[in-house]
Amino acid sequence: FHTHTDYLSSFQTILLGDSGVGKTSLLVQFDTGKFQTGNFSATVGIGFTNKVVNVDDKSVKLQIWDTAGQERFRSVTHAYYRDAHALLLLYDVSNKTSFDNIRAWLGEIREYANDEVVIMLIGNKADCSSDDRVVSEDCGKRVAREYGVTFVETSAKTGLNVEAAFLSVAR
Ligand code: GDP
Ligand code: MG
Repeated sequence: FHTHTDYLSSFQTILLGDSGVGKTSLLVQFDTGKFQTGNFSATVGIGFTNKVVNVDDKSVKLQIWDTAGQERFRSVTHAYYRDAHALLLLYDVSNKTSFDNIRAWLGEIREYANDEVVIMLIGNKADCSSDDRVVSEDCGKRVAREYGVTFVETSAKTGLNVEAAFLSVAR
């Protein structure tokens, strides 16, 4: 017999970006609606969360993989790129290095992901004060346009655009 879930389309989604940009926090906010403070060291490695979302009257299952500790061991992630349907690539708007590294990440993606992969660039920590912000929204938009990927700023802290980002990717 079949349960309802047998008919769900399931899509592999991977969170990428430098350590500390808020990948785990974004996933926790999307999954639970909460900003979880504290230590995520337990998520070193690669783990996933399943979320069913509704887009255009259809239920879609996102299997979202959270990467950690792979910044220095990128080969670990390469095997996952190939099967991914969507990649959420994060930087931190209060960390210039994490933004500068986006080009390297996009290079990796071009090399290892399949050509049809959906890529969304995400500038996280949009809640930070204007004093702390070092990457403007325009800078994010510009690099996204250059690489032909979609772009949004999010805050895993306040929840700004978190659900919208995942829904957009699912759609
Ligand atoms: P990861 O290494 O990419 O998984 O990043 P984490 O989710 O572990 O977050 C790194 C740090 O940034 C933690 O101290 C989080 O509380 C903090 N953080 C994550 N997202 C946000 C955000 O949207 N706003 C602010 N202000 N802090 C955030
Ligand atoms: Mg993490």
